[in-house]
Amino acid sequence: MENLYGITRFNLEKYFISINEKKFKAEQIYDWIYIKRIQNFDDMRNVKKEVINKLKEKYSLEKINIIKKEEDIGVKKYLFELDDKNKVEAVIMFHEYGNSLCISTQVGCNMGCLFCESGKLKCVRNLKTFEMIEQILLVESDINDRISHIVLMGIGEPFDNYDNVMDFIKIVNDKKGIDIGARHITVSTCGIIPKIEKFMNEKMQVNLAISLHAANDELRNRLMPINKVYNLDKLIDIIKKYIKKTNRRVTFEYVMIKDINDSKKHALELVELLKGINCYVNLIPYNETSNSKYSRSETGKILEFYDIMKKNNIQSTIRKEFGNNVTAACGQLRANN
Ligand code: SAH
Repeated sequence: MENLYGITRFNLEKYFISINEKKFKAEQIYDWIYIKRIQNFDDMRNVKKEVINKLKEKYSLEKINIIKKEEDIGVKKYLFELDDKNKVEAVIMFHEYGNSLCISTQVGCNMGCLFCESGKLKCVRNLKTFEMIEQILLVESDINDRISHIVLMGIGEPFDNYDNVMDFIKIVNDKKGIDIGARHITVSTCGIIPKIEKFMNEKMQVNLAISLHAANDELRNRLMPINKVYNLDKLIDIIKKYIKKTNRRVTFEYVMIKDINDSKKHALELVELLKGINCYVNLIPYNETSNSKYSRSETGKILEFYDIMKKNNIQSTIRKEFGNNVTAACGQLRANN
């Protein structure tokens, strides 16, 4: 049985056509589950009993479960348990501009970035589309408010779960579905080039963020094993093509780790790498994890780095920090559990 929350409207239309029903029924069903937010098929009052029975045979409306919540000023973190007892997490951040939810895309991660908690446990499996959608539905219901922004920056590598993530984006972006604008959705990748290339041809107006964290191959190889497969030359090359094709600005994430990648020399290398590229750099103070050997760059270092970016006309920001008390770095809630 499939879960209805993982079915795009287009695929639901195909299903209705296959059972000789009108395809607009898909829109009716979406209205019940995403606008009215009913929990049972029997509550779909304008749908014939016969159709409801067919839907019940093919689809379920089962939800994943919230098993733990942690709260701090401006942030709330959730641990979910899936059907097979695996656990993933999501974090909501309450900004002035809206509520931004960071969701997980895999149970664990295979990318093995040295500083990241998510990769300590290998990827057990990809999340199904409905398991990503339900993170949104459950959090919206918990906070009794709408989510305005989605970032795919929780546990997992979204481009390692490409097809499910694309269906997820379609449902989230669908005006008749969850209805969050494409420009309010950000996919973050460590740099899987063939998937960046594929993504560039999807014609989605979704934001792309690249986890860079180092501007030379020697260091990036060390921090992010993916760089041994797709090095900086190749990465920058595809990003240039992406920008040309989509006419969209790309974000580079740069986690600031003490004495690892935060010197003046590193900043100048970054300037050199990114000059002339329509991009934006997000400097992220490293979130120290309980079992990590790395620490966060000193504030002075971060400001100095930021100044070098600014002086060289590379647009950048220092990520506002929250959630230090709620183990908000990727994978921490799960790891501690
Ligand atoms: N796999 C994807 C998305 C998930 S990670 C990617 O690599 O982009 C989201 C971001 O958090 C990445 O930039 C990742 O490198 C960063 N990150 C991981 N651990 C962190 C930590 N302890 N502190 C700050 N950022 C961290």
